[in-house]
Amino acid sequence: MADARDDQIFGLVKTLCELPGPVGHEDAVQDWIANRWGGFCEEVRRTRVGNVLAKVGGNGPRLLLLGHADEICFMVKSISDDGFLHLWPYYGDLRGYPPRWIMPLNQPALVVTSHGTVEGFFATASGHVVGGRDKPDFRYEWNDWFVDVGAASREEAESLGIHPGVRVIWNPLTRRLGGARIVGKAMDDRAALAIATLAGEALASRGDLAYELWLGSTVQEENGLLGAQSVIDALDVDLCVNLDVGLLGDIPGPDARDFPSKLGSGPIAVYQDSSCHYSWRLTDHLVTIGRERGIPVQQAVFQNFGSDAAALLRRGVEVALLAYPTRYTHSPIETVDEGDIRACVNLLVACATTNY
Ligand SMILES: [Zn+2]
Repeated sequence: MADARDDQIFGLVKTLCELPGPVGHEDAVQDWIANRWGGFCEEVRRTRVGNVLAKVGGNGPRLLLLGHADEICFMVKSISDDGFLHLWPYYGDLRGYPPRWIMPLNQPALVVTSHGTVEGFFATASGHVVGGRDKPDFRYEWNDWFVDVGAASREEAESLGIHPGVRVIWNPLTRRLGGARIVGKAMDDRAALAIATLAGEALASRGDLAYELWLGSTVQEENGLLGAQSVIDALDVDLCVNLDVGLLGDIPGPDARDFPSKLGSGPIAVYQDSSCHYSWRLTDHLVTIGRERGIPVQQAVFQNFGSDAAALLRRGVEVALLAYPTRYTHSPIETVDEGDIRACVNLLVACATTNY
């Protein structure tokens, strides 16, 4: 039985995850964030590249709670004569074919044009019509995947605002699974923006902030932490707690010796990943606050992972990474746990009211 707070978390996560925010075209997410944060913040800034920075209030060292607005996506590279959209990934591809970690086939698709969105599906030819190609060494090529928007011709697709350069995301609805799990697209990193929003709202009315507290939502994290690189030019930050997905070993496949963290066991304080070493002092501080308040906190190091915090570290900011446990990262079924989300909010509220 969900209580009112659970519904608040689920509703906010669902709203944020279902907004379209492909890398480089995060406008719908940033518009929503600027509007919502404007309701309880003293000031909201939108930078030249599209980052949103909002002052919650308080005095003292500047503390920034940071998430990213963008989600992984595909780029339309051409449209066939009969109206199918051919794709490349959002990143610079060095393999020449799709990797194991990205699989959009048979998912609902949403094409994000300059003037609106167009629904479709990620498709490939089925075994009935190309069965003979299914050799033991079969692998998909980029051109085996395409998007069908129901158009009968290139002209019809173009009339919908589609052209080379527009983006496509997978587009499932966000759902509850079991008692406390939430499944959908873009938990990376909209669940972080939900956490920052709930923490900011809880802190806005309090008179005991230990910092001048800011919230931030960056663009273009997924393609190299690009939006975060100019945050410091818009706001001179002392400390940053970055929020992002946390890697888990509690499903069939990964080795629990490599990934000891579990879903539902609390936020993960990350000490190091492929992009940087986080401040051990600030990370320990988060863990200590959690222990003192009875909030479970896991501790980890991540391979094959990076975060916006590394971009701020390069510019002289002391940074920590607080991750919420997430299964099936970079897929249409990213899975989080309401209890972990609530624990992240509670830990950040405690952190923002505790001197460091
Ligand atoms: Zn992320």
